[in-house]
Amino acid sequence: MKSYTMYHCHSYYSLLDSATKYQDYIELAVRDGAKALSISEHGKPLNWTEKWGACKKAGIKYIHSVELYLTESLDNKVRDNYHVVLMARNMDGLRELNELVSRSCDEDHFYYVNRISFDEFLNMSDNIISTSACLASPLNRLPTTHPRYMELAQKYDFLEIQGHSHEDQVLFNKRLFDLSKQLGTPLIAGTDTHSSSKYMAECRQVLLEAKRKSYGDEDSFDLTYKTYPELVEMFSRQAALPEAVYLEAIENTNRLVEMTDEIILDTSIKYPILYGTREEDSKKFVETVERKFQDKLDSGVISESQKNAFRASIDEEMRVFQKLKMDGFMLSMSELISWCKDQGMAIGTARGSVGGSRVAYVTDIIDLNPETWHTVFSRFCNEDREEIGDIDIDCVETDRPAIFKHIIDRFGIEKTARVASFGTIKEKGVIDEVGRCLSSRWIDMMGGNSSDNPYSLKNIAEIKAEFDSDPEGTKKKYPDLFYYYDGLLNVIISQSVHPAGMVISPITLRDNYGVFNKDGEPCLMLDMENIHDYTGLAKYDFLILSTVTRIRDACDLIGIKYPKTNEIDWNDEAVWDDMMTSNAMLFQFESPFAFDCLKKMRPRNIFDMSLVTACIRPTGASYRDDLLSRKIHKNPSPIIDKLLENNLGYLVYQEDTIAFLQQICGLSGSAADNIRRAIGRKQRDRLDAAMPSILEGYCSKSDKPREQAEQEAKEFLQVIEDSASYQFG
Ligand SMILES: [Zn+2]
Ligand SMILES: [Zn+2]
Repeated sequence: MKSYTMYHCHSYYSLLDSATKYQDYIELAVRDGAKALSISEHGKPLNWTEKWGACKKAGIKYIHSVELYLTESLDNKVRDNYHVVLMARNMDGLRELNELVSRSCDEDHFYYVNRISFDEFLNMSDNIISTSACLASPLNRLPTTHPRYMELAQKYDFLEIQGHSHEDQVLFNKRLFDLSKQLGTPLIAGTDTHSSSKYMAECRQVLLEAKRKSYGDEDSFDLTYKTYPELVEMFSRQAALPEAVYLEAIENTNRLVEMTDEIILDTSIKYPILYGTREEDSKKFVETVERKFQDKLDSGVISESQKNAFRASIDEEMRVFQKLKMDGFMLSMSELISWCKDQGMAIGTARGSVGGSRVAYVTDIIDLNPETWHTVFSRFCNEDREEIGDIDIDCVETDRPAIFKHIIDRFGIEKTARVASFGTIKEKGVIDEVGRCLSSRWIDMMGGNSSDNPYSLKNIAEIKAEFDSDPEGTKKKYPDLFYYYDGLLNVIISQSVHPAGMVISPITLRDNYGVFNKDGEPCLMLDMENIHDYTGLAKYDFLILSTVTRIRDACDLIGIKYPKTNEIDWNDEAVWDDMMTSNAMLFQFESPFAFDCLKKMRPRNIFDMSLVTACIRPTGASYRDDLLSRKIHKNPSPIIDKLLENNLGYLVYQEDTIAFLQQICGLSGSAADNIRRAIGRKQRDRLDAAMPSILEGYCSKSDKPREQAEQEAKEFLQVIEDSASYQFG
């Protein structure tokens, strides 16, 4: 069967102008034998990397494209905002296109929408393929006598005809056919598809009407996906051009496949570079670690008794960071957080697995001494790690803008960017949107407002309440309203900026990925998942933890500095007693249930307290009561009892599994962490493969006869397996 290449279409990333998932277009393209697909969103190729990934997976070529806006001149802001479809011919074209889009979002370019000037369009290189787009093309909206008309007409690689049976489109197609003969520029058949099916087109219409964005005589424009025969039929019905001409124009869409190179995305990990080269960063990092380690020894922040343990761990961690080329990342974190602290900002103690890194403690990334608090490094990072490093930072909300600004100043505006995020319509939102649309349709039909309107705000509010208590019943009761429900649920309708995330990159972002301007800060056109899955860029998350804010405020009130953990007396009996009197400001114990558990345990130190934190999770239910009543748990052997003595003998933390495998069975940090993960993912074969070395290690530590020792180890491994899903990290 004959096929064509859909190069002009819009998914819900053309915000509010489509309800269709781009995945549906990919499915249709594959079903109908297309070799490639270009999803030309309005203005910005949002989340384009996942579209690239999805096309690749589906086995069709991804053509990088956008339907961008043009303006005659940037000098005086006129809302002319013409349309043009741009496609990248190759990798250079992709970067040029992204740079153009990024530039179009700059303040001097933006006016209602992001635009480039006629001059910028005319100066594009041959690496970008352009078509004249829809009726919003300057070739349609400008008179042929306009001084720049022919200059523009000559620039396009293709003149785009569309098959809508609308008088204006008929006239435009004829004009394009004349131009094509005059200039020798080929015609190409654009579909301007906005919906994957008739149903999705109705959903789009609801969305437009609810947002009062309806465009009058859109009815004569059929923007629904067409198969090859349907497309031919459309042009035939339109009867604007000879058959041979439009058949050729349809065939020309397939020429795009040969005209464009495969887009290759480098997804390898890209940590920032601070001092010119990675080698230089590495040297600087070693210097920083050594200097800060010595400082902490000199000042007594790290005690003499911990010195040797720190030395050994630092050497091992540095070897791993070197191997993973993470030096620049760790150095950037150290410099950033040190800068924050120098500014007097309050930064949280530590969040997540980085709490196990001695190097992170020494370099002030965290303020939690892993030797003192028995946290392990290999959960944060080990030499087999393939995931990009990830450190979350807790800060105070009002400090965050200054932190972002500092990052941009330090690393340059070209290599830093905020992260996009997208808003979708949720269950109740769908009811609101459809309600708004049906209400205005009802008013149009019945004339004027009336209390009988079944979709009045009051009625919609009641329907939402009904939906809350009985979703399925409500759907059946209001079939008109819920007819659109499935089509509109989870449709992306808005774009914003992730409040916490920032990317710091070793490569420029405007051209490689595309950015838009958010109040003077660049923001990537990609969201967190796209960045994680397709770019290899390191993201920095500055999260807001209200506890940090409250502690800082309390310190301000009594006139002291935000305390460091080594300055705090963790064994102050008065504090542990006082904690039982109120849950105010007790992080994670704010709820009555959690506070109740805390009171049962009556913690006398941090280890007690973190045991309560672990067991108040739903996953801690199995040992919660025993642990809170301080019943000591017996393990298969005294060496394991000893290992878990801080937990009253319970296997609570993921660290415990690692410690068992590493300290008792003698496995390396990475081997231990890999086995922990394998157990968590129920990959029995990987545990079996490691079994001989685990048993060997355990038996050599045990003074029991071989057979008995093996039995003990196996018994405990069973406990680990059984509990894998609820160990606390
Ligand atoms: Zn258009
Ligand atoms: Zn379009």
